[in-house]
Amino acid sequence: MIQENYQRIRKEIDDICLGCNRSPEDVLLIAVSKTKPVSDMEELLNIGVRDFGENYPQELTEKYGVLPKSVHLHQIGHLQTNKVKYIIDKACMIHAVDSLHLAKTIEKECEKHDLDMDILIEVNFAEEESKFGVKKEETEELVRSIAELCPRVHIQGLMTIAPFVENPEHNRPIFKGMRELALDIKSKNIDNVSMNALSMGMTNDYKIAIEEGATMVRVGTAIFGARNYNK
Ligand SMILES: *Cc1c(COP(=O)(O)O)cnc(C)c1O
Repeated sequence: MIQENYQRIRKEIDDICLGCNRSPEDVLLIAVSKTKPVSDMEELLNIGVRDFGENYPQELTEKYGVLPKSVHLHQIGHLQTNKVKYIIDKACMIHAVDSLHLAKTIEKECEKHDLDMDILIEVNFAEEESKFGVKKEETEELVRSIAELCPRVHIQGLMTIAPFVENPEHNRPIFKGMRELALDIKSKNIDNVSMNALSMGMTNDYKIAIEEGATMVRVGTAIFGARNYNK
């Protein structure tokens, strides 16, 4: 079932791309496997899937220990500074950096391990009270500070978690705005910043996000089924 779900969604993504003149290779489907067992992930490994999303550093670390080293584990959720040290040499990318303090911690851990790290800046575009992320007006300033002060930390683009809405069309302006914000920052040609990646879109709204320019969608429930947090 998991393989079929993944393949169906991948096909949908490819079709959406072709429908809006985008190349399917430009959209990475990240299978969000948080709370799901390694055996579920192995089903996808068997059909060549490499990119998985995890939220909890401890879970990412445990899974890293048992999965083949060819797997790309994306740290997609909010990350506390005191947890950076656990995942620094295990995650392929950190998607939700929203403070200079966190970026400096990543920089310090990179120095210790002689590594570089790709990150995305999390933007709270809809300015929801309950969400992490920097305000859109403050994004460029944060990008500039991190780019200047954290040479081992490479900003690849922006990430957002759009509000949960019944009708995903309601999130279209957010995705559109995210793309405009990324293009605006990209046009400033800041050293050590590339701004080509846009991580946005989840089970509920990935189709709209791709139409509006997402280069990474993070899909959990539609691939693995509902999560059970009280196991
Ligand atoms: C859990 C999670 C997802 C996946 O959500 P679904 O609605 O299950 O697709 C995507 N991004 C982040 C940051 C998450 O925490």
